[in-house]
Amino acid sequence: MKFDYEVLIIGGGPAGLSAALSLGRMSRTALVCDDSRPRNAPSSHLNNFPTRDGIHPAEWRRLAKKDLEKYQTIRFFEGSVLSVEKAVSGFSAELSSGIRVRFKKVILAYGVEDTFLPVPGFRELWGKSIFHCPYCHGFEIRGSRLGFISNSEMTFHMLPLINALASDLILFTNGKAEFGEEEKSILIKNNVALIEEKISGFIFEGEQLKAVSLENSEPKERQAVFFQPTLPFSLKSRIGESLGCEKNQFGFYKVNERGATNVDGVFACGDNVSPAHSVLLAAASGTMAGIGAVSALLGEEFNGN
Ligand SMILES: Cc1cc2nc3c(=O)[nH]c(=O)nc-3n(C[C@H](O)[C@H](O)[C@H](O)COP(=O)(O)OP(=O)(O)OC[C@H]3O[C@@H](n4cnc5c(N)ncnc54)[C@H](O)[C@@H]3O)c2cc1C
Repeated sequence: MKFDYEVLIIGGGPAGLSAALSLGRMSRTALVCDDSRPRNAPSSHLNNFPTRDGIHPAEWRRLAKKDLEKYQTIRFFEGSVLSVEKAVSGFSAELSSGIRVRFKKVILAYGVEDTFLPVPGFRELWGKSIFHCPYCHGFEIRGSRLGFISNSEMTFHMLPLINALASDLILFTNGKAEFGEEEKSILIKNNVALIEEKISGFIFEGEQLKAVSLENSEPKERQAVFFQPTLPFSLKSRIGESLGCEKNQFGFYKVNERGATNVDGVFACGDNVSPAHSVLLAAASGTMAGIGAVSALLGEEFNGN
């Protein structure tokens, strides 16, 4: 059987590029496909990555790709992977260029699709005054009047982090709170205000949030808010599902410690596999998925398959 590449990597973000580095360092051939929809594109600063704290996200990707230049076995395709099918041996994929490629293993590194509140101002402020993670963007807004939009089993995991950064905090559940009196008494004890009313929009100037508008009462002045989407997360592609990859209750692919999914030859990494969303963690899991793919390839070669 003739293969074009040993590995197809779908996604050239921190996860996919790190997987490519592991493969390149073992001189394995891989095609990294990316259609330029990086998750952190709305932000102008990438924080919490040692040696690169505060760098522009596009610059981080440029540097990661530059590191790969010396590995001749790694190639890039700027476009989408439309579909992947299991073949008698390995897989084949259709690319948006119309070309079909054949390969032995595939690494799913296509990240998550952020869902936005369908109200005016949300999209404009995403990554600027509305944030997904206190570790990524909390330091710059510490001591501010903050909001947290969340109403799920995860609310009380993130709440202490945001409360620690805020001068005062409002929890917006954007509808009736899905937690009970015990949780409400924790909010009171920590001086966190609870607003269950529906959010109707965001008042802002430039990239700066001024206030959160509510359906039936006065806007609440806030300088920034954190947003936790309703679960499960949506992924940027359904290729994993089409191959039979199992997901957990949060919407992420189930993988072992080397990024292997339940489907033989299919690996996943980055935001696709964990609710802890950061560039460093995505890169680390990409490294492991790359190692997993190399081990699988070498194991087959050793055993004569
Ligand atoms: C606004 C915002 C700001 C953030 N800031 C920070 C920060 O400061 N520090 C930090 O550590 N983390 C930050 N994060 C989190 C971080 O961006 C993610 O955890 C990280 O980018 C995940 O990397 P990934 O490679 O899994 O996915 P992504 O970075 O999303 O990359 C996935 C890539 O796959 C491509 N792709 C998708 N489908 C296909 C397909 N079918 N074919 C080809 N290509 C495809 C996309 O175009 C994309 O480039 C931020 C997130 C957001 C939303």
